Amino acid sequence: MSTSPLSPNAPHLINTGLTVEETRAAISGLVDQLLDSGAVAKTESVLLDQGLNRILACDVLSPIDVPAADNSAMDGFAFRGTELRSEPLTQLTVAGTVFAGTPFTGSLAAGQCLKIMTGALMPAQCDTVIPQEMTQKLPLAADGIECIQFESSAVSSGENRRLRGEDLAQGSVAIRAGRILRPSDLGLAASLGINKLTVKRKLRVAILSSGNELRPLGSPLDSGSIYDSNRYSLMGLLNRLDLDVLDCGIIQDDPIALKTAFSQAASTADVIISSGGVSVGEADFTKQVMQELGDIGFWKIAMRPGRPMAFGTLKPVPNQHPPRSTLFFGLPGNPVAVMVTFYQFVQSALLQLSGATQHRPPLTQAIASAAIRKKPGRTEYQRGILEIGPDGRTQVRVTGSQGAGILRSMSEANCFIVLSHEQGNVAAGELVNVVLFEGLL
Ligand code: AMP
Ligand code: MG
Repeated sequence: MSTSPLSPNAPHLINTGLTVEETRAAISGLVDQLLDSGAVAKTESVLLDQGLNRILACDVLSPIDVPAADNSAMDGFAFRGTELRSEPLTQLTVAGTVFAGTPFTGSLAAGQCLKIMTGALMPAQCDTVIPQEMTQKLPLAADGIECIQFESSAVSSGENRRLRGEDLAQGSVAIRAGRILRPSDLGLAASLGINKLTVKRKLRVAILSSGNELRPLGSPLDSGSIYDSNRYSLMGLLNRLDLDVLDCGIIQDDPIALKTAFSQAASTADVIISSGGVSVGEADFTKQVMQELGDIGFWKIAMRPGRPMAFGTLKPVPNQHPPRSTLFFGLPGNPVAVMVTFYQFVQSALLQLSGATQHRPPLTQAIASAAIRKKPGRTEYQRGILEIGPDGRTQVRVTGSQGAGILRSMSEANCFIVLSHEQGNVAAGELVNVVLFEGLL
């Protein structure tokens, strides 16, 4: 890395190389600086049913023990552990039934048990449950008393009972600050009787497309023009993160139009994401504008797709109260490169800036079902299809053509095959790293 975008006086050179890891570290450093300046420190309170995908601002402490009392983990029969015989079989008479929500108030004599349902409170005199399927009913006695028998070794004293506070003790942390709230977190908060959560405020993210050849949907395509698809991919990517998206449309390759658009966006947005206009031919031109507005580095990143990229901060706009810098990403124009650079750099920066503690999607591994061509010296994100092979093992193959402009390769794929910087060609049967597009959340 020959210059650093973190240095305030960094010359804004083009043709400087960064690896993916160096880029990540530089962006993360910029976000830390913004966080230190208190740029997005605000929090708000939301009702639980509005909490999905928001980022928790404070630890949620459990106001109660969970479970609140000892209860049965099984449908079966509850008894005192001391009733277990040393002989092979234990026999007990059934003195009654305990349902969930209806505590047993009677008392048990020696040799007795209670039929019990999962979740029902453990009667005071019982500490053990034998699951129903491990018992046999004995023929009814003449007096109508029900008896069961089971192998004495089938259960040990104290088994199949959930203890008070076993899941969560009162006062302990149930959900940590920085968590992106998932359905299970909402359920967990509800199980504690909590109806409101303190979350980070939503980030405001402005998006725009730059290029004279771009046309909005609904208008005819004249010679040499194309539809602006990047804004729609970006909107989809951002909406999944539950952010406020500000659509600034298509901007012509014109210094005044670009300067006006960026300044306007910076007056309201925390982050601006543009696509197009950062490749070698065009970067000089965009660079001019950006140098006036902030501290932006234009880089060639050792990756494919997504080589040209700009990032940095825009200065607070005049008369802004309080003055606030804006994080800027100038993504390459190629539609696949936009998505790859978003997933690799922008998404984690947005999550970090929002206060989330987990920023990176998990990597998994799969067997390459065919050879994959790869040049050492750059990280490649090939679009792949992950599936279970005929031998029952997880395998991955590359989707058709991998050109940076071929959006269909993203649409057909269900994962990125991530081939590391040093790696060369992959032979069929080798393990490769994979990041899934979708997952259970
Ligand atoms: P650029 O990075 O501006 O040189 O653009 C690289 C390629 O991506 C060119 O073929 C552009 O026409 C195309 N491109 C740029 N912006 C968009 C966009 N918003 N939607 C679709 N294609 C685009
Ligand atoms: Mg362009």
